[in-house]
Parts: sequence; structure tokens; C-alpha cells
Amino acid sequence: LIDIKGVRNMIDKVYKNKKEQRPIIIFDNTFATPFCQRPLDFGADIVVHSLTKNIGGFGVDMGGAVITSHKYLHTLLQYRKDFGGILSPKNAWPILVYGLPTLMTRVKQQINSALIIAKFLEAHPAIEKVIYPGLPSHHQYELAKKQMIDYEGNFAPGTLLYFKIKKGQEFADKLINYIAKNAYSITLAVSLGQLRTLIESPASMTHAGLPETAKKEGGLEKGGIRLSIGMEDPQDIINDLNKALSKI
Ligand SMILES: *Cc1c(COP(=O)(O)O)cnc(C)c1O
Repeated sequence: LIDIKGVRNMIDKVYKNKKEQRPIIIFDNTFATPFCQRPLDFGADIVVHSLTKNIGGFGVDMGGAVITSHKYLHTLLQYRKDFGGILSPKNAWPILVYGLPTLMTRVKQQINSALIIAKFLEAHPAIEKVIYPGLPSHHQYELAKKQMIDYEGNFAPGTLLYFKIKKGQEFADKLINYIAKNAYSITLAVSLGQLRTLIESPASMTHAGLPETAKKEGGLEKGGIRLSIGMEDPQDIINDLNKALSKI
């Protein structure tokens, strides 16, 4: 997690006497969703979101959003004119009419399931560790409790979790391949924040192209697996994981 208020305070301190040179904080809040975390409240200047993920939520349309104060409007309009990236009405419609209004309902259920599944994985002997901000074992659990809060003030630690297989990358690949062929509720795919639960191995899929040193710096370990929790019954997801883990 990134301590947004911490970044804000540090920049303000360093640039106290040269405000005109102060860097702008642009925060990609896609993983958290605006339901779980609102970076503007903690001092970010600009928030960007992929609408393709949990805000769209159904995995059928692509888009992006920028949320910021009015003072950046003309900079943004200039950028939009030059680069020409405009959401077509056909894509904007489902995101605004089906995606956004159901965000809260979907994310609430996904968080509920994520916690149940994270606890299951943490207790499984084949798993070395689970990284989920909702688990007290998370190294930034205290920060998560301050920063990841829903509109009603409840802890909202998100819908994504990461776990590491003790036996390493070869077995992580075996696990996701087994799931791709046999699972009832989990789909092998690299997106996230969709109705369906998606599984992938960052080291061999989304982040395979990174040099080894960058993988290491970013905490992408061999044997690591990312799960994006969907709307299925958490017990179905656990059954799939349990079966796959017993086969590798
Ligand atoms: C997917 C993703 C993006 C890019 O979004 P697209 O809608 O696929 O272009 C940017 N940031 C994060 C964190 C993402 O997960």
C-alpha cells in the first residue's frame, strides 16, 4: 500500500519554500476502487481509474477516468485533444448505467469473500504467505485500516489478494493451469475487478517482461499468484483452490 497522507506530508515538507516546483501527486486507485479508498481525501492531487476493472465490473467495456479539482481542467482538455482518447457512447453507457451503480453491491460482496478466502489460504500448509490488507498479518494493516474505508466508515480492504506457493514458480504455473482446465468458479485471466474470480501468476504472466531486478524490487516472487475475487460463492472458490492445491 502507498501511504498517501505520508507522501503528501513529505512533499509539502520538502517543497515548503518552493511551492511552484511542487510535484503533482497522481494516484492510480484502480486496485482499491473508489468504494474502498478516496485518495483526494488524503492529499492526492489527481486520481486515475481504469474503468475496465471494478467500476465497469462486467469485463465488457474499456475506459478510464481522471478525478481532480477544477484547476487542472484545461490541462486535461488539452491533453485529451492532443491524444484523442475519448470514451465512445456505446462504451460509456454500460459503465455508467450498469457498472457504477452496482459498484458498492459488488465490492461489498467481493470484500466479504476475499477475507474468507484469504483466511483459508493463510491456514493452508502448501502456502508460504498471503498478502491481503484485510489480514492482521499484512505488514501495513494499520495503514490499511486508516486509508481503506468505505462510505459508511467500515474497513474496506479491497478485492485483490496475493499468495505464494511454498514450492515455487513451477508449481504456481501448475496450479493455475490446473485451475484453467478444471475449476468451476475461477478463470485464468489477467484482468481484475470483474464479476468472475480471476487468477494469474504475475511473475510468468502480467509482469513476465520485467527484468529480474525490477521483479525483486517490486516484491514479485517466484511462486506468487494473484487472485481477483468475483461474485461467486466463496465456498465454491475455496473448493476449487483446495482441489487444485491437492493436485500439485
Ligand atoms: C488495468 C489497469 C490499468 C489500465 O487500464 P485499462 O483500462 O486496461 O487501460 C491501469 N492501472 C491499473 C492499476 C490497472 O490494473
